Amino acid sequence: MTSKYHYICINCNTEYQANEVTYFCPACEADNNTYTPPKGVLKTVYNYSETARKLQNFANLKAENYLSLLPLQSVASMGYLRVGNTPLYKIDAEKDFGLYLKDDSQNPSFSFKDRASVLVSAYAKENNISTIVAASTGNAGSSLACICASQQQKAVIFVPAKAPLAKLTQIIMYGARIVPVDGNYDMAFDLSIEAGRHFGWYNRNTAYNPFTIEGKKTVSFEIFDQLQQQIPDRIFVPVGDGVIISGVYKGFEDLLKLGFIDKMPIIIAVQSEQSKNLTANIHSENWQTYPSNTIADSISVDIPRNFYMAKDFLLKYNGEILTVSDESIIQASVQLSKQTGIFAEPAAATAFAGYLNYRNQNLLKTGSKNVVMLTGSGLKDLKSLSPVINMPKPIKADISSVIDYLNNR
Ligand SMILES: *Cc1c(COP(=O)(O)O)cnc(C)c1O
Repeated sequence: MTSKYHYICINCNTEYQANEVTYFCPACEADNNTYTPPKGVLKTVYNYSETARKLQNFANLKAENYLSLLPLQSVASMGYLRVGNTPLYKIDAEKDFGLYLKDDSQNPSFSFKDRASVLVSAYAKENNISTIVAASTGNAGSSLACICASQQQKAVIFVPAKAPLAKLTQIIMYGARIVPVDGNYDMAFDLSIEAGRHFGWYNRNTAYNPFTIEGKKTVSFEIFDQLQQQIPDRIFVPVGDGVIISGVYKGFEDLLKLGFIDKMPIIIAVQSEQSKNLTANIHSENWQTYPSNTIADSISVDIPRNFYMAKDFLLKYNGEILTVSDESIIQASVQLSKQTGIFAEPAAATAFAGYLNYRNQNLLKTGSKNVVMLTGSGLKDLKSLSPVINMPKPIKADISSVIDYLNNR
């Protein structure tokens, strides 16, 4: 049986059959180095005309849980944890601006990364692979550890030793083999690939494994469905390695190629000023690394692993780019929690800071639909909020102290 998908290298356009390659385009990978974004990321392509003929419309695609657009034999391989199908909340307080929050903190390990992990895990299951390795700033690792625990698979996670405690704790609690690295994410990334080769493990590294993009694209199908099959005007996406944003684009592009939609949304790549390697390099010929040190650890990336695909998508579909200060990220996080009841981690609040930036500059049309991707839970990184948390001193346990305390605030 021929596979329902094949690959195309986004750099040299070579096509590969599903069984010919697993990660990067071998020809392009040979030229990669540690100091610039890797070339040769593979895009997974389906037989769109045949699929469109078979399915006819989006409702039928949804009814089969998007299986025709996933590199799997069965959606049952994804196991029992509820990944994706997260809420899209319309925020009435922002009525003129049509704000919608896609709350992906409600995934099993509390971040968007579960969408990629579950697909990689399912593929491994269908192919009798028992051990999966990943490098992570924290969320991809805690996610893979979580999903593997539910699927009776082994996970090996390389993380910078300085990753937030909650994420490290998750990895250990889910029973994964944790490998803390005395270095940054980029170092952990390269090490995990070497170790994977040495031990023969399957690798989930973001963008390196093309299915991370395929897993993440499901969010677009959900947004389209939750908006009653309408395309939002804008989607604000926090960007580190550029895989989530590419996934969002890929989902809509798949629908475009099927003829189920006729235009693309405008997607805004939001980065921290202190980790701006996609936004700062997108229009330049020569790569320059701006060392990252944002408090939004999940998007603190020196070498975005999916730079070229994200760049191609943004340029092709008239995407927009924006950087926001760490200060405004924290403020956005506080405002989001207070106004909506959703407590997001700094990387996710970055997307909301981007939305606020547009709104305050009057860049959003009245009645437009604007989706903000909330990619992870605030409980994953409490330390970054310590500057804004003012814990009052305890009061004596009597009513007069209570009255005193509340009157004197
Ligand atoms: C990974 C992550 C991002 C960024 O995704 P990239 O694919 O690296 O661009 C944003 N927010 C959270 C919470 C993440 O974990």
